[in-house]
Amino acid sequence: MTTDMPSAVPTDVTAEVPAAFAVDVEPLRAEATLRLWEAAFGQPPWTRDELLLRAAGAQSTPRTLGARNAALMRLHASWFGARLELLSTCAHCGTTIEFAADCEALAPQLDGAPPAAPQALDLDGHRIEFRVPDVEAVVLASTAGPQPTTGFDPGLDPDPDFAERLWSVCVLSAARDGQPCRTADLPEPVRRAVTERMEALDPGASISFALDCPGCAARWQAPFDIGLALWRKLQEQAERLLIDVDTLARAYGWAQHEVLALSPLRRAAYLQLVRA
Ligand SMILES: [Zn+2]
Repeated sequence: MTTDMPSAVPTDVTAEVPAAFAVDVEPLRAEATLRLWEAAFGQPPWTRDELLLRAAGAQSTPRTLGARNAALMRLHASWFGARLELLSTCAHCGTTIEFAADCEALAPQLDGAPPAAPQALDLDGHRIEFRVPDVEAVVLASTAGPQPTTGFDPGLDPDPDFAERLWSVCVLSAARDGQPCRTADLPEPVRRAVTERMEALDPGASISFALDCPGCAARWQAPFDIGLALWRKLQEQAERLLIDVDTLARAYGWAQHEVLALSPLRRAAYLQLVRA
């Protein structure tokens, strides 16, 4: 490791998740949705992903990023359907593109088994030893940065230095002509080669869609975070349930648990009567 990283940071994200949390639901039921939403609200992304995967009954969750993304894709398919409706805006002309993706088709492409052992790359007289980024590295890099004071949503509040810290966590040593050197001093082509090797060893670690603009023919890669997308779906569902509880409690004087115990069909029928 080339930079001082905090050693006291807990890197076992599972330690933060109560063992008895699994709610064992498929599809996600009303009460379970609200419990999961409450537990995951305001948590950092890695804990939130962990809670979602555990809630689906997983006894152990993947440590590597591609396999984790694949598991989150399968969870999305199981809870909310396989289809992802996506939007991206062309940076050149402002045209917004709507497109769709299939979680079930994507999951096997993301799965992978990157090596756990340190890797080495030799280029232009440099030798770099590195580890492939996994969930532990992400936790280390994230917790070493500025901590949010309110809700943590990387989609809304990106951390510009995260990639730099992840690099520092994952590059274990660097040498030039046999002499140790600082990772910050590595030439750009060497750095790029290491990054590309990391990506090649776990190609499912980051997801992006290649898009062509129909307005100006520009091409770009639209990044996609399946953990965040899944969380937003769950949030929407929880908010809808709270509105249903509020509406039916006001109309019939029912308690929250009575409303949540209704099947979705009965709940929808009563809501229709109230709104008629
Ligand atoms: Zn365009």
